[in-house]
Amino acid sequence: MALIVHKYGGTSVGSAERIKKVAQRVKSARDKGNRVVVVVSAMGHTTDELIALAKQVTDNPSDRELDMLLSTGEVVSITLLAMALRSLGAEAISLTGGQAGIMTDTAHRRASIIAFEPARIHRELECGKIVIVAGFQGITEDLDITTLGRGGSDTTAVALAAGLKADLCEIYTDVDGVLTADPRLVPGARQLRDISFEEMLELAQQGARVMHPRAVELGAVYNMPIMVRCSFNGRPGTLIHGGELVERKNKVRGIAHDLDVAKITVQGVPDRPGVASRLFTPLAEAGVNVSTIVQNAGVEGLADVSFTVSRQDLSKALGITGPVAHDLGARKVVSGDNVGKVSIVGSGIENVPGHAATMFRALAEHGINIEMITTSQIRITCVVEREQVARAVAALHSTFELDKLD
Ligand code: ASP
Ligand code: MG
Repeated sequence: MALIVHKYGGTSVGSAERIKKVAQRVKSARDKGNRVVVVVSAMGHTTDELIALAKQVTDNPSDRELDMLLSTGEVVSITLLAMALRSLGAEAISLTGGQAGIMTDTAHRRASIIAFEPARIHRELECGKIVIVAGFQGITEDLDITTLGRGGSDTTAVALAAGLKADLCEIYTDVDGVLTADPRLVPGARQLRDISFEEMLELAQQGARVMHPRAVELGAVYNMPIMVRCSFNGRPGTLIHGGELVERKNKVRGIAHDLDVAKITVQGVPDRPGVASRLFTPLAEAGVNVSTIVQNAGVEGLADVSFTVSRQDLSKALGITGPVAHDLGARKVVSGDNVGKVSIVGSGIENVPGHAATMFRALAEHGINIEMITTSQIRITCVVEREQVARAVAALHSTFELDKLD
């Protein structure tokens, strides 16, 4: 008997009607003879609404209390789904993250899973029950409730699938699978039949919203295949896995974009050892995630250093970088959030020097100026003006012939 994990996102459980539909899908997986564990997110925009509610009470809610509050969102959906399943005649039980054995560290609001104790879930499965687990939450050694960071239900699902040695982890969402680009920008975007963990991780980190990057990382570490598919239809979806890919290697597989980008440039910093460390250590200590970093070759002992952060971190980052830059004797610090990123992603694209040239030419032909460039083994990212991002994505999608995928 196969063990499968299903995960349903907020939209899929957004109303009582939709919860009933999910119950039917879960029941039919069970009726096929599988043992089934289901992870659910909070209904619709519940998590956002709970955060807004907390902010009405105080400007500065404590992270511990917020976690306790936010965890209730998922508790609503697990209980309703268990009730819906029972009314269909299926045995089901809801479990909070803690009851399901998900142990985390104490980093409230961005906790990491440090252990998973599967005994309770196994026990319930052995009794023939469908087990429904609240996503996005866990419990500390002191039995405090934690949450795993926004979008953390994907991580719960993959962690459970890996820990239970499930045969498959299916992530049900409101799109058909992983697409070659955001269909709102590229109507001709195609669904991929499969994609490697490393490609999916890059796409997710570079702005593709379909799956949370941490969940993909976990899937890669435990080699847990993940199927992303739509909860509103029976279509096959996209398999994320570590095996050989159906499509040929060395090809661009997808275009990601990210509008949540702000750029800071420190102009005229002395070009000597230790400067980058002085600039970036305090940002790291303050938990500011710095992505693209570019330093130009020093001229007359001075260099410019540019980097990007998320838009919400811009003012915090400036508050930290300003004084450091001043201490270093830098000429000035400039910033702006009128930028975005476009990336091409594909395993082995570094082996094909022509891909970079093709990308830059396509952007040039559309009159799009590249402000920064970074690469990894399987990705090339350009920072461009925010207004140009949509055109850049469309241009790259057709240049790399992603619209011609069958
Ligand atoms: N409900 C949580 C959130 O909105 C977790 C999730 O949806 O994965 O971030
Ligand atoms: Mg969500």
